[in-house]
Amino acid sequence: MTEQTIKTMEIPLAYGDQQSPMITNTMKQYCMGEFEFEIDDCCTACHFHAEDPDCEVCGGEIEFKRKVSVPWDLCKTIYKQMATMANGSPEMELNREI
Ligand SMILES: [Zn+2]
Repeated sequence: MTEQTIKTMEIPLAYGDQQSPMITNTMKQYCMGEFEFEIDDCCTACHFHAEDPDCEVCGGEIEFKRKVSVPWDLCKTIYKQMATMANGSPEMELNREI
């Protein structure tokens, strides 16, 4: 039997709303535009006309990967929900048996 203590850190709460994690301008400065993912996309010019090997969008392949930034509002929503749910996670029981 091994005991493990989970370390925690304080999450600042929003002014006037002590149930919601605070979002600061510094968090926005460091995180806005930092997260992106790729989606499959289709080049409409080559799809509806002729495949153009010199196409700047798809190079004549029609399908291509397009990078999408995670919008700042979605970053805030994810952070707030995860921070709010952290204390409710069963994994947060201190001194649990593993
Ligand atoms: Zn194209």
